[in-house]
Amino acid sequence: MNEAILADALRARGRRVVLESVRIVLEEARTAIQRGDSPAVDPLSVAIRANARLSAEKPSLRPVINATGVLLHTGLGRSPLAEEALTRAVAIARGYSSLEYDLEHNARGRRVQGVERLLCRLTGAQAATAVNNNAAATVLALRALAAGREVVVSRGQLVEIGGGFRLPEIFEVAGVTLREVGTTNKTRLADYKRAINAATAAILRVHRANFTMVGFTEDVPLADLVSLAHEHGLWAIDDIGSGAIGPGQPPWEGDEPTARQAILDQADLVLFSGDKLLGGPQAGLLVGTSKAIALVESDPMMRATRLDKMTLAALEATLELILDADHACRRIPLWAMITTPIVELERRAKALADAISAHHLPSARVVVDQSRIGGGSAPGRVIETRAVALSSPFPPRFPSPGAFSDALRKAEPPVVARVHQDQVLLDLRTVPPSLDQRLLDVILSVCHHQSSEERAIDPDRGGTPAWERPDHETVSVSSS
Ligand SMILES: *Cc1c(COP(=O)(O)O)cnc(C)c1O
Repeated sequence: MNEAILADALRARGRRVVLESVRIVLEEARTAIQRGDSPAVDPLSVAIRANARLSAEKPSLRPVINATGVLLHTGLGRSPLAEEALTRAVAIARGYSSLEYDLEHNARGRRVQGVERLLCRLTGAQAATAVNNNAAATVLALRALAAGREVVVSRGQLVEIGGGFRLPEIFEVAGVTLREVGTTNKTRLADYKRAINAATAAILRVHRANFTMVGFTEDVPLADLVSLAHEHGLWAIDDIGSGAIGPGQPPWEGDEPTARQAILDQADLVLFSGDKLLGGPQAGLLVGTSKAIALVESDPMMRATRLDKMTLAALEATLELILDADHACRRIPLWAMITTPIVELERRAKALADAISAHHLPSARVVVDQSRIGGGSAPGRVIETRAVALSSPFPPRFPSPGAFSDALRKAEPPVVARVHQDQVLLDLRTVPPSLDQRLLDVILSVCHHQSSEERAIDPDRGGTPAWERPDHETVSVSSS
């Protein structure tokens, strides 16, 4: 075995894994020989193929370039994290930490202490806690405040959020009876009032996070729901979903409900996600009265959905940034992307289009387009953007824009673009400027890279088409 070729692999992957790869290569060679072929079996060739096999193994969770213009793309991991959040998470993950240890008093500490302090400061709430995501926060809130009882919800708010968050099912899991009131488009205070009975424990408002209703609609303002709930000794719970903290946080002219307003309106418990408009890690945040939070925290489900130390570290660092909204606009990637000025996008798009055009195929030009928030946030809201539109002529091996965008997606790093009509659109709002060069490199390599299959049937190089050669797997990898 040629150890020099495999030195990096040995260091990175360990002897057992490298030997396994060599064994597979030898096994393939043996099969080929039995079939009458004569593959190269000298140590160098075997080492090269074994190494190629190893470097072709990619993790399934990989960084991608999001050129879709969907800022909170659930499939692409929602919010990227701020450098400050990453640094904090790495520092905490690398060693031991004061996760549940009160260093001051040599006593057991509260896991969410730092996050609670910041959430209270940001929203004006008395108390706060955090769990794995907002779906878990909703189950917890319902269980802790209303298990075995009824909770009143407007029929128009029985949402399904992408990925299986269906409110009626959440109720079932929580062991709470859902009491629907009103109609799909109109629910009045009187509807809620009529539904209240001896079994009622709470009124829940749910933000219609991923769709809009237009036309004749009517909803009861939160403050009125809270008054009604409190008159009857019930809890008022508000699931605002997206996690806007207050006006201007994040800085965009959406009409998202905010946590601060819900607290001002006296809601007992307000629920939102950490990785939507907050721009932090995946988490479910609960803010509210000390009494409601204490009940939530004493539920055994709390332990089953608690946050890990890396997420807590990243969340705390993100919330620290949000204390200063201007600062957050520079440091939190989501907020920076939302507020990137058009002139800046125009400049970057033009530079990218020019660079592509300089290499000929395909045709590239800057177009006006619309970015979306996505991720079950701010439905129907779009932000003007600039995209690079790639259109015909694509290199001949791409019969359609779809085929070209498939190739981008399979590149390294993968580029996820949008196909619209006959164009592949690359929205630069969701691409960090530091990745512009990578994006260009991927596009050019996809355009100019002759695939191993093409090379294998290249008449100048002779030879059997790659897919007819017994070792074609190895060939295609090592030549890429
Ligand atoms: C997104 C959303 C949820 C689910 O939150 P996750 O953090 O994704 O679990 C629940 N309710 C509303 C209103 C939402 O928008």
